[in-house]
Amino acid sequence: MYRITIKEGKDKAPKRHHPWVFSGAIDRIEPEFTEPGWAEVYSASGIFIAYGWYDEKSHIILRLMSWNRKESVGDDFVRKLVKDAVIRRKSFFSLPNTTAFRLIHGEADFIPGLAVDAYGRELRAIVSSRFANQYLAVIAEELDRMLHPSLIEAVTDKQFAGIEGLAEKIRHFRNGCETREDENRENARFIENGIWYEAAPGKGQKSGFYCDQRDNRMVCEEYAKGKTVLDLFSYTGAFTLHLLRGGAEKVDAVDSSESALRHLLYQVHLNEDKKVLPEGTRDRVTITSANAFEWLRESEDGKYDMMILDPPKLAKTKGSLENAMKAYKDLNRVAMMKIKNGGIIATYSCSGAMTREDFRTMLSWSATDAGCEIQILRTLSAGSDHPVRLSFPESEYLKGYILRVIK
Ligand code: SAH
Repeated sequence: MYRITIKEGKDKAPKRHHPWVFSGAIDRIEPEFTEPGWAEVYSASGIFIAYGWYDEKSHIILRLMSWNRKESVGDDFVRKLVKDAVIRRKSFFSLPNTTAFRLIHGEADFIPGLAVDAYGRELRAIVSSRFANQYLAVIAEELDRMLHPSLIEAVTDKQFAGIEGLAEKIRHFRNGCETREDENRENARFIENGIWYEAAPGKGQKSGFYCDQRDNRMVCEEYAKGKTVLDLFSYTGAFTLHLLRGGAEKVDAVDSSESALRHLLYQVHLNEDKKVLPEGTRDRVTITSANAFEWLRESEDGKYDMMILDPPKLAKTKGSLENAMKAYKDLNRVAMMKIKNGGIIATYSCSGAMTREDFRTMLSWSATDAGCEIQILRTLSAGSDHPVRLSFPESEYLKGYILRVIK
């Protein structure tokens, strides 16, 4: 095990249980680094702080995982982290109408750079750290022992592959062992609050579905009756499906991905077949493949009673926050200008680098420039299967508001 000493004055965050330590905070490592491994971490005055994983090729050189001096870190410790995270989701396994939820939420569950979602009987893992990549087999084995999934599919997070020096790969595990992909494998079918979905194997964005918005889709459904709605950045239409079930007269879905939009229509048909949506619902939906920012600017004034704005992560790091704030501001400003008087905007940001305060500040700039008043009707966040860890503010990545626009 390595022994790492943190520089004087740099130990505040690790002592407050923040899990990330960057190279600039490290005074020395003993013995000299040869390969990634577990480390005991000490303050400059020699007081134990935490155990972590040290890897010089990672963009976060030291990832802290336990602040308990008595912990014995290693494979069994990782198995325990997996087990504890799954047990914390116990109530989700018995939900009557939902079979998709998050089992492991990265640092918020003390497993850096790993997200695992359940989609019916299949599990999808997203790997965004060298640590999670190294421990993937151990993690898959423990998940298999506890849950006996039909398959575990693990993909490298594209956004982090470069900075973590990870190959973009898809790996499969069955019965606890790594296997080759079954070419004829069917799409994973699952339900969320009574609506049916299919996630195409390995092809989707992230893990193929965004279950963090589960509760927020239900909230939007409440506002949909009789409305003409714009679902901007619709992806495969999870919001659209809820809006339709909620009785929206018309939903226009816009996304840059044509394949996502085709899948949206497929899912409308699937829910018609399952009698979740009435026959003929398809006629209430349009799909448009376009750059949403430009499309919105060109869209008809006063057409929509309601808009969903769920853009991708625009601020990838703290460094890109300023530019991202401008992009978010512009998007929300144009939406506020275009929507009908009294219209409802459900607006989101999934940028971990942007705090809730930043998000609200940005919205107030948008309102000022759009020359309107805004009432916040609801404050939204990710579901409780995506917990926010108080000592890791970055885990509060998904923020949202239901706004009423008054002109
Ligand atoms: N609301 C969706 C998730 C949206 S994810 C859901 O609930 O499932 C963000 C989406 O934005 C992705 O589908 C991506 O294809 C799309 N996207 C990214 N950049 C875009 C752009 N410039 N214009 C339109 N869509 C874009």
